[in-house]
Amino acid sequence: DSFDAMGLQENLLRGIYAYGFEKPSAIQQRGIVPFCKGLDVIQQAQSGTGKTATFCSGILQQLDYGLTQCQALVLAPTRELAQQIEKVMRALGDYLGVKVHACVGGTSVREDQRILSAGVHVVVGTPGRVFDMLRRQSLRADYIKMFTLDEADEMLSRGFKDQIYDIFQLLPAKVQVGVFSATMPPEALEITRKFMNKPVRILV
Ligand code: AMP
Repeated sequence: DSFDAMGLQENLLRGIYAYGFEKPSAIQQRGIVPFCKGLDVIQQAQSGTGKTATFCSGILQQLDYGLTQCQALVLAPTRELAQQIEKVMRALGDYLGVKVHACVGGTSVREDQRILSAGVHVVVGTPGRVFDMLRRQSLRADYIKMFTLDEADEMLSRGFKDQIYDIFQLLPAKVQVGVFSATMPPEALEITRKFMNKPVRILV
């Protein structure tokens, strides 16, 4: 039950410890390793349990830093949450040189396009703006190998179902899917059935 025992890259561990984490939380103990193996994971956990660092570590561990293409996409229900995830990803990935951008509504589309065309490894965003960027091909889906839905139940209750489905259609078929949700309403279960491959379920 330590971050050291998870087989993480040295520079990711440095980022985790520099951020101030000493020991993994319960969800991190159970969730980081399967995520790092590339498995589809459903993690049912409330916010406050450390789920953000779970998927950020899983993503940061698996990125190819020599390839400045978007390889991981994270969706969140609100702009504030997306920007908060962006900050955590950037902090944990500081020693890896990760390039992260938040694509959220209410900001300049031109600025998003400029940053995306300069090259990023990870995009965190709200469904509307992310779909818009994919549709315009300002965000290329070709290299995306990890797709995470944070607060999936909250996104569904905010009416993002169609946009989430539209985004799935644009991603490579073999994308790794991570679903994080406090509850599993029928619409969330439907997503796991339609888009996930033998998911590991973790209930914290
Ligand atoms: P989250 O559930 O991801 O929103 O995280 C809730 C809070 O717990 C945040 O303030 C995190 O910084 C903090 N946190 C997450 N993991 C750890 C950890 N392993 N050690 C100490 N604090 C943590």
